[in-house]
Amino acid sequence: MIPAMDSQHSDSIEGRLAAVRARVAEAAGQAGRRPDDVTLVAVSKTHGAAAVAEALAAGHLVFGENRVQEAQAKYPDLKAGHPRLRLHLIGPLQSNKAADAVRLFDCIETLDRPKLAHVLAKEMAKAGRRPDCLIQVNTGEEPQKAGVSPGAAAELIRLARDELVLPLRGLMCIPPVDENPAPHFALLRELARAEHLPWLSMGMSGDFDTAIRFGATHVRVGTAIFGRRPPLD
Ligand SMILES: *Cc1c(COP(=O)(O)O)cnc(C)c1O
Repeated sequence: MIPAMDSQHSDSIEGRLAAVRARVAEAAGQAGRRPDDVTLVAVSKTHGAAAVAEALAAGHLVFGENRVQEAQAKYPDLKAGHPRLRLHLIGPLQSNKAADAVRLFDCIETLDRPKLAHVLAKEMAKAGRRPDCLIQVNTGEEPQKAGVSPGAAAELIRLARDELVLPLRGLMCIPPVDENPAPHFALLRELARAEHLPWLSMGMSGDFDTAIRFGATHVRVGTAIFGRRPPLD
């Protein structure tokens, strides 16, 4: 490949998307899985609508945002122009934002407490819209991190799926930043298997290959597609 082309390739969202898709396919292949079994959620937080439009132009349709308000400012127009766009909420959800989240998102990955399960059930009934739900598990039991503790996951699953009949598809986790993620991915897989939940959202820019080897059905990748984010505040 000529150098000019190579640098253009890796400096564009289209090029980086292609590179990430190739890594997803390779990791899936190594695990004896099909690339199509892994959904790439392109995490666009802090990046503007123009960046998302570039990814859409490259044929990508699944995106993730961590804040309801930021997504509300960015996505309604994009969704109107691309009816097949699917938007995942990957950040903590406050109960008072649940109504907005139910109306905008197609998947809520961060259900993590009984009260939120009740509020989501109510708001879904009101809105006549039932986004897929994942329960976030705090596999590292980090006090500052959202997510239900592994020991309380079964009870929250029972409430969400069996009692409230939410469209619960699976589990999500964010391993501690300073640890080997593999045992956390393995734990999430075990919890999901025991409950017969098919979706596993795990793996980010730094570790999505590993997550795919541990059975991830959804990887949430931001930096490797959109580039570095401005530091917070
Ligand atoms: C920001 C974020 C990601 C993406 O992280 P990168 O390292 O940029 O790929 C994934 N999951 C969650 C929950 C996030 O907040």
